[in-house]
Amino acid sequence: MHMFLHPIINLILGIPILLLANKNIVSYEMLIIILSGFLIDLDHLFADINKESIKDIKKLISYWWNVENKYEGKFQIFHSYEFLLLALILSFFNYWFIFIFIGLFLHWITDAATNIKITKSLEWTKDYSIIMKLLK
Ligand SMILES: [Zn+2]
Repeated sequence: MHMFLHPIINLILGIPILLLANKNIVSYEMLIIILSGFLIDLDHLFADINKESIKDIKKLISYWWNVENKYEGKFQIFHSYEFLLLALILSFFNYWFIFIFIGLFLHWITDAATNIKITKSLEWTKDYSIIMKLLK
């Protein structure tokens, strides 16, 4: 999914979640849900920095800006199950982490829907695990 659709989707899906939690929708909690859902895509930038072909910072930003609906089949640490789990565990110790988790999770769900639509399979699910990556 295009990276700039994620903040909009997180805003739309974040509203009922915050209302159910009896929180104000114009709040730092909403800001965190939106920002974490956006910043998770720094993964694409880190993956592209490692590409030999993209060393020019202008090219890199333009490439990142133009990430579209496609399944790249690359391991991305912030999109991993383990990173999501870490955010969830940290939410038991710090109030703000539950909103970071919600933002990451909403992003992950929309990416998963895009991957299913593009690949018509669940094969991509193995690319989202740090453990599976280490076992390869
Ligand atoms: Zn993503």
